[in-house]
Amino acid sequence: MTDILIATHNKHKLAEFKNLLEPMGYHIIGADEAGLPDIEETGTTFRSNSALKALAAAQFSGMVTIADDSGLCVHAINNEPGLYSARYAKANGGYPAVFEVLLGRLKDDFSAHFECCLCLVRPNETPLFFEGQVFGRLTHDADASVEAFGYDPIFVPDGYDRPFGGLTSEIKNKISHRARALEKLVAYLKG
Ligand code: IMP
Repeated sequence: MTDILIATHNKHKLAEFKNLLEPMGYHIIGADEAGLPDIEETGTTFRSNSALKALAAAQFSGMVTIADDSGLCVHAINNEPGLYSARYAKANGGYPAVFEVLLGRLKDDFSAHFECCLCLVRPNETPLFFEGQVFGRLTHDADASVEAFGYDPIFVPDGYDRPFGGLTSEIKNKISHRARALEKLVAYLKG
């Protein structure tokens, strides 16, 4: 079984990676389990941040490593908060307070997408990048059946009438930005 380090301290991200990779026979180790220190996200693109995190974690652990940098891009406001999504939430009262702050900046265009860039680093190899997106719209009718991840309660993916937060994890893990990027990465690993 191949061990893969997922360079994140975010329990929601880690759960999604486990859900997607463990049935394929990979053994997933999270950043907490590996004792990884926090890595400062100083990049200005999803790609550079995912590379920063993956390279630092691979160097620390010597393991095959995947890092995810992702965010919510809202079209009417120039794709904000984008790669600053986590920091934007923190600066605006956290979840769910940030939902109304963000929605309050919009008039009639609620279209948005989630973006994910995964960086795969294997010892002594050049980093590889895999990207995924999911398009949809934001809603004032926040919905979350369980403790939700980030902006999931207000993002309705195209083709659905409920936000990610109100859909099952099976559905989210088929169509999400992260699932789409990971599908490409796994296809690459399987060669
Ligand atoms: P990162 O850790 O810098 O990549 O920040 C990712 C942030 O983007 C999260 O903390 C959320 O705010 C947002 N985000 C990314 N992916 C998702 C998702 O699948 N659902 C909800 N929010 C997400």
